[in-house]
Amino acid sequence: MQASNATVPSALTIPPVPAAPPAPAVEHLSPHDIVTYFRCPHEMELHRAQHLSWRTGQAVLPLTPTGTPPSGHSPLSPPPGESADAQPGRLIIGIHDLLLYQDPDESGLPILFPPEQSHAHAFVRQHGATLMDPSWGLSGRPDLVVRRGDGQVFPVEYKETHLWEGYHEHHGRFFDVLQAIAECRLVEAVWGATPRFGVVYYGDAAGGGEREGWIEVPYGAPQRDWLQAAMSLIRADRIRAAVPAERNCEHCEPNRDGLCRYACGSFDQHHRNERPEPPARRRFY
Ligand code: SF4
Repeated sequence: MQASNATVPSALTIPPVPAAPPAPAVEHLSPHDIVTYFRCPHEMELHRAQHLSWRTGQAVLPLTPTGTPPSGHSPLSPPPGESADAQPGRLIIGIHDLLLYQDPDESGLPILFPPEQSHAHAFVRQHGATLMDPSWGLSGRPDLVVRRGDGQVFPVEYKETHLWEGYHEHHGRFFDVLQAIAECRLVEAVWGATPRFGVVYYGDAAGGGEREGWIEVPYGAPQRDWLQAAMSLIRADRIRAAVPAERNCEHCEPNRDGLCRYACGSFDQHHRNERPEPPARRRFY
């Protein structure tokens, strides 16, 4: 038997095992995304595509495949927990309380801290205007973050409406609760202290503060677990179906911009133009 002249491939010729493809970057979400998805997943998707187009200068199409039928409700279930406690009146700030953060783009907030109790400018100068939670891929801007004299830290979200407006409207109140829970998580990630609750403060702008009040939205392990599951569900949803409903579509900004083919009504321009001025800023201490 004659030996073959064929060259035996050396170890060097063995093709290398291709490297594993990089893990896809986790989709970044904000409290606003979670609220919007709870209302209508397609609205969140249109927002995302629109902002990505502006940022990159390239046309980014929404994920929702053409021909996807509309849905009757969002797949996201409401968060667990007791209904938030409603407190009429002012949120009192004491002399030992500190303002840790304030959204620098919110100029109409009716809550003022004296300069010696405010660390907000220093925080923004050092860390930027947006609170970031890199481990969860969450970022956003509560209106305020307050630390009480006893060490309790909590976010405050300001709404112009009065305390009892829409109080019995199931959906409207849930939007505020979702936002407060996501903001509590941001506070937890940034300051390393778990808030017991987030505050939604209703300033009653149209009524000059006559019917102002606030709610405390509980935050703990059940809400944290719910939020984590909600963010996974949103990221896994590559359809993001529309939930057309008059109460959704009339306040939907992609509808205002003519982006939605599922809209069941017009954007309520009148409502948007008639927004009242915020009340005079007042001291709460
Ligand atoms: S117009 Fe209605 S259906 Fe379309 S994205 Fe907005 S809320 Fe959803």
